[in-house]
Amino acid sequence: MSAQKQETKPPEAPKPAETPAPAPAKAAAPAKKKERNESPVYKFYQVKGGKVERLRKECPRCGRGVFLAEHKDRLTCGKCGYTSFKKK
Ligand SMILES: [Zn+2]
Repeated sequence: MSAQKQETKPPEAPKPAETPAPAPAKAAAPAKKKERNESPVYKFYQVKGGKVERLRKECPRCGRGVFLAEHKDRLTCGKCGYTSFKKK
């Protein structure tokens, strides 16, 4: 009796997946400067005869130098969030 030994070949190892080529670095687009519509604080002051007059209401919480933004029905502080509703 001749036992034929069948050699089992190990399955071929799959090829290592090729690493995809790194995407070419995108050229940095020139950053667009965002125009911020910030109201300069100096506009809230007006010097009258050597006296400084404040044209806006100041924030009662933040104190001097912080002005309230005017809305049609309220005044708000952009710093602390204080809101003062206008009386009708
Ligand atoms: Zn405030």
